[in-house]
Amino acid sequence: MSHIDNSVDVECPICGMLNKSLDLNETDGWMECEKCGNAVQILKYVRTHRIPTYRMEDCQVLVSLTNK
Ligand SMILES: [Zn+2]
Repeated sequence: MSHIDNSVDVECPICGMLNKSLDLNETDGWMECEKCGNAVQILKYVRTHRIPTYRMEDCQVLVSLTNK
């Protein structure tokens, strides 16, 4: 397997475990620590604040309900 430039080593802020070769661009900063199992978001790798499609649909449902 070839080296992937996007992968980074990130120290878990909770337990200090160094999690290696994570692609945080892919997960928008989220990683799951391999030691403590906590899912944490590394803020410096957060690039976007996209609203997932299903949330948009939820909003449309709410609007149509309140409009009656
Ligand atoms: Zn951890």
